Amino acid sequence: MSQAPNLHSAGNLSPDTVVVSAGRPPREPDAPVNPPIVLSSTFHGTGTPAPGDRVYGRFSNPTWDPFETALSELEGAALPALVFSSGLAAVSAALSLVPAGGILVMPQHSYQGSLLLAAEEAANGRFTVRTVDIADTEQVQAALRGSDAGSDAGSGDGTRPADMLWIESPTNPMLEVAEIDVLARAAHDAGALVVADNTFSTPLVTRPLELGADVVLHSVTKYLAGHSDVILGALATSDEDLRRRLHNHRSLHGAIAGPFEVWLALRGLRTLALRIERSQATAGLLADRLLGHPAVEAVRYPGLPGDAGYERAVKQMNGFGSILCIEVAGGAEAAEAVAAHVRLWLPATSLGGVESLIERRRRQPGEPHSVPENLLRLSVGIENAEDLWSDLSSALAR
Ligand SMILES: *Cc1c(COP(=O)(O)O)cnc(C)c1O
Repeated sequence: MSQAPNLHSAGNLSPDTVVVSAGRPPREPDAPVNPPIVLSSTFHGTGTPAPGDRVYGRFSNPTWDPFETALSELEGAALPALVFSSGLAAVSAALSLVPAGGILVMPQHSYQGSLLLAAEEAANGRFTVRTVDIADTEQVQAALRGSDAGSDAGSGDGTRPADMLWIESPTNPMLEVAEIDVLARAAHDAGALVVADNTFSTPLVTRPLELGADVVLHSVTKYLAGHSDVILGALATSDEDLRRRLHNHRSLHGAIAGPFEVWLALRGLRTLALRIERSQATAGLLADRLLGHPAVEAVRYPGLPGDAGYERAVKQMNGFGSILCIEVAGGAEAAEAVAAHVRLWLPATSLGGVESLIERRRRQPGEPHSVPENLLRLSVGIENAEDLWSDLSSALAR
């Protein structure tokens, strides 16, 4: 029953068309234009299963295929992506590619859950973590080569070359921009794999595989699904062996996605280009207005010409993303007060949904202490920009 998904792929379309057209069922009379949700834990079959047979719902599901095809097309991956039950499940599968006793180089401002999981693996003795400032290319290159740089959490392995480079760009929540192509070359020279968490950018803004990454990762929970109503993750790669190992990890560790959630993610993906266009434009406008606001000590946004990541962002990104951070004058309390007094912005963690969210990151006990106490992360949604501004500026004026 080795049935190819038979999904529409017209090639050479713009990404803003691909989000709408990819993963459609075949054009047949009376066939649906949207893929159906298939609720079946098992699939008909006799004899020895051939590669690609569905067999059982922990290995594959027809509702995953359209989303996996669409995401791989957007990321420019040669093979279908792999959807997971959460972004962290995808992080866990990707970290399984670090060999036992190996070395992982990771941004000090990676997503909190990724840092915590890597630290746990290090504490269990599975591998060593070297944390770096991912925007400091020379420091990362040195950490990859194994000369004495970065901080080793664990044994004194400072002289061995690394096995994996983890990239986030822009980082969460400091919005540092990594020089992805240069870092990927340095990692490969050192014999390390490159995993890029592309959650903040989405493939419409950054395409890490084209810049040399081996595996691209998403918390689908965020922009791809886009409506704050599912938890999902995904990985994409063009390397057959890596994909086989990641698929094997998903099947054996069992972190599989429910068909309904994946169907919702594909539905959300259809409007990704419009959502990003709108939220990026608003983020840029808000960043400009917040710069120099008397209640704001600093604005972090790679789209501001004075931002440390600006030049790199111009080269490597298509736009500057829809997240910005501000440091509020008056410290943690003043920042909390802003989050408490907005009426339209929602005070909540997470990001990438249609609704605008605001959060003081350090309220989370696991957040690195290098993140300022008074930093608010703003995930800009698709509401009217002036409504967002007037709500935020009234809260800042209090
Ligand atoms: C949210 C997030 C994750 C984790 O994803 P979940 O879907 O919450 O498990 C990983 N990386 C980044 C950058 C994120 O923002």
